[in-house]
Parts: sequence; structure tokens; C-alpha cells
Amino acid sequence: MENIVIIGDGVAGTNAAAELRKRGFEGTIRLVGEEAALPYQRPPLSKAWLRETNRPQATPLRSISFYADNRIDLMRARKVVKIDRRKRELLFSDGGTTQYDTLILATGASPRRLDLPGADLQGIHYLRDLGDAAALRQALTNPDCRDVSIIGAGVIGLEVASAAVDLGKSVTIVEAAARPMARVASPATTNFVTQKLQEAGVIFLFNKKVERIGADRQRVSSVILGDRTRIKTDLVMAGIGASPNVDLAIAAGLECDGGICVDADMRTSEPDIFAIGDCARGGTIFAHGQPRIETVHNATIQAQMAAAAICGKERPAPVPPRFWSDLKDMRVQTVGISTGYDLVQRDVSKLPSSLEVHLISGDRLVAAEMVNLPNRQSALAKAISPRAFTADQER
Ligand SMILES: Cc1cc2nc3c(=O)[nH]c(=O)nc-3n(C[C@H](O)[C@H](O)[C@H](O)COP(=O)(O)OP(=O)(O)OC[C@H]3O[C@@H](n4cnc5c(N)ncnc54)[C@H](O)[C@@H]3O)c2cc1C
Repeated sequence: MENIVIIGDGVAGTNAAAELRKRGFEGTIRLVGEEAALPYQRPPLSKAWLRETNRPQATPLRSISFYADNRIDLMRARKVVKIDRRKRELLFSDGGTTQYDTLILATGASPRRLDLPGADLQGIHYLRDLGDAAALRQALTNPDCRDVSIIGAGVIGLEVASAAVDLGKSVTIVEAAARPMARVASPATTNFVTQKLQEAGVIFLFNKKVERIGADRQRVSSVILGDRTRIKTDLVMAGIGASPNVDLAIAAGLECDGGICVDADMRTSEPDIFAIGDCARGGTIFAHGQPRIETVHNATIQAQMAAAAICGKERPAPVPPRFWSDLKDMRVQTVGISTGYDLVQRDVSKLPSSLEVHLISGDRLVAAEMVNLPNRQSALAKAISPRAFTADQER
């Protein structure tokens, strides 16, 4: 009977365990996670969680009984520090070991850290896990915290800004690019979102670089820009992207290039090792260049693909990537990947609070973006066609 170990108990790893059982895998499944908490959902941490007046609870991915019911050996608070491919063995930080026949890497990503003077001061926050969210919430709900600076206008930066203005803070976002969410959505959508957030009180400074963080008794007191602008601040949140957790894979000699490289079955350069979720790069036929995709939907789909390949079942039909975010009173959704289009069609027939944008290449719809049109994502997903190549051909 085969023995599968999954490193990482986030949404990718947890779903992989579930999908293996769903497809009839009868061997041992060990799901290893570094964190002590029952595997939980990350999206609420930058949204409802920060606004809760009472101390919020994590939202579990699955109930505790799910693991026992499905014979999944959940190994919490255990960190894998080495993969020995020759012995098919994993080494834990506490010195323990475990064997595998097939290994799934679902190690996720970590926030990029600021690398500038003042980066080690108190009052600088990042947001990835429950501990980060608890610290950020505590700081934001402190009445002495009035001015909040956010570095980076990516999705997490905008979500934290939305929560902070709701909590009555004065919020400034500094962004090096000319617009927010540039990796996620087209200018048609990001301009709409920017305007709504500005109306809610968020101040955006685009095309600006932070030079250093100023201090008052070891705590942040200002953000100083390259043009010498000084922004008074009580709290800094840096949302400057995330790097895939690839150290284990690199040390094990797996092919990595901006993520762990995988084929259309999520198989790495080693046939018995798979990689899924935020740590993996590849596996989509909906974009050129095999981008690494950091969404819950991607982690869920890739878990299904890996499980199907491991169980020798048919590869699931490709579905276009999906994403959502909640910004103030906007539900922002995308389907497909918003690159490589040559025509933008904006639907103006809807209410002023909603938007639908179609991104077109030739005669193909490559992506669509919606604001406050929750029922459109599924319908538009059916209309989106893959690019004219397969992931296998790209490798
Ligand atoms: C605050 C926040 C809000 C988000 N909001 C949205 C949203 O609204 N919509 C959306 O689509 N996506 C959102 N995302 C992105 C989404 O949560 C991620 O794409 C998703 O969590 C990726 O899942 P994963 O399992 O690949 O990685 P992760 O969730 O990062 O899980 C990886 C796990 O592996 C563990 N691990 C890593 N290395 C080891 C090791 N050596 N040993 C043991 N364990 C290890 C880590 O501790 C971690 O728990 C958000 C992300 C964050 C952080």
C-alpha cells in the first residue's frame, strides 16, 4: 500500500488529501503543517477578521472530524527541514523522520520583507498567517493608532486599507507602479476600484518609492519617500508580494524557476514528487509564460490535478483561473488571466456601483473582471478559451 506525504496543510495540501480519498486512494496520507492551528482559511484574515470588535476565530478549512473520518494523519506544528530523495525520507526540525512513496509539496508562499532603512522598527506589519493577522488587528484597533501607511497597492494592501478606513483610520497607500492590483486586473477595473476607495477616504500615492521608515523611540513614526515627502504614521503594513517557499525543493535538486516547476499533472522534475498551490509554477493553459497563481481557486484546482495523476485517473478538464476580493462595499472577481489581450470592452449598462470588463485577444475572450456582479463569474468562465498551447508543450 502506498504512502503519501503532503508538506503544507493550507488549502492546497488539505484539498489534496481530500481529493486523494475521493478518488479511492487507500494508502496512508500524512498531512504535515508547521502551524499549530487546525488548517484554516487565509482570505478572512485581511477582510472581516480585521474589522471584528470581538476577538475573531479562525475559519477552519475542514472540521476536526474530517481528518479522522478520512484517515488523514494531520501532523500539526511539525516542520520539514529536508527531503532525502534517495531514501525517500523527510527530516523534521525536531529530528524525527518519515518515509514517503509519493510526496506533494504544498508549502505556500511567504510575504516579501522590506529591505530599506528602518525595516526592523516596531510597528511594521506583514500579513500571511493567523499570528500576523492577530498582531495587525490588535494594532489597528488601538485608539492611539490614527495614521496608517500601507506600502504596496496589491490585493492585500487594498483589503487592509478597506478595513482600516472602516475602523476610522486615516489611510495612505504608497505604490511604486502607476496603478493598484496591476498583476491581477486591467486598468479599466483598477481605475474603478481606485476611485471608489478614494471616495471612501483612502489616499493613493502612485509612482512613489519608499526610501526609509522614520522612528520615534524605536517605533515607526513616518514613511519617507524618494522625493523627500514625509508621511506621518502610527502603523506600517507592507503588502509588497509573496515569494514561493521553495527552499526544500531547491535543496532537494528539483527544478525551480520563480516557483517549483510543474507539468500539466503538477508533477515536478522528479516523477514521484508533485507541487501545488502558491509554491508551484505551471499547470495552467490559460496564460503564456506559466505564471505562478496565488489564489484559493488555483490551489483547489491544482490539488485535484495532482490527486487525479497520483490515482491514475483522467486529468480534470481545464477550468480558467478565478479570483475574488472584498474591498469596502465591492466584491471584485476575475476569471481568466488578465494579460495578453488587445481589446477591452467595458459594460456600461449596469448600476454605478457595478462593472463588467471583457479582455479580448483576436476573437477570444481571455479574461473577464466584475465588480458587484456575483452571478456573472460562472457564466463568463464558460466563455473563456485557453491559449493555443498546452502546459506540456511549454516545458
Ligand atoms: C491575508 C490573505 C488574504 C487572501 N485573500 C484571498 C482572496 O480573497 N481570494 C483568493 O483567491 N486568495 C486569497 N489569498 C491567497 C490564498 O489564501 C492563497 O493563494 C492560498 O492560501 C494558497 O494556499 P497554499 O496551500 O498553496 O499555501 P498556504 O496557504 O500558504 O499553505 C502552506 C502551508 O504550508 C506550511 N509549510 C510551509 N513549509 C513547510 C514545511 N517545511 N514544513 C511544514 N509545513 C510547511 C505553511 O506553514 C502553510 O501553513 C489570500 C492570502 C492571504 C495571505
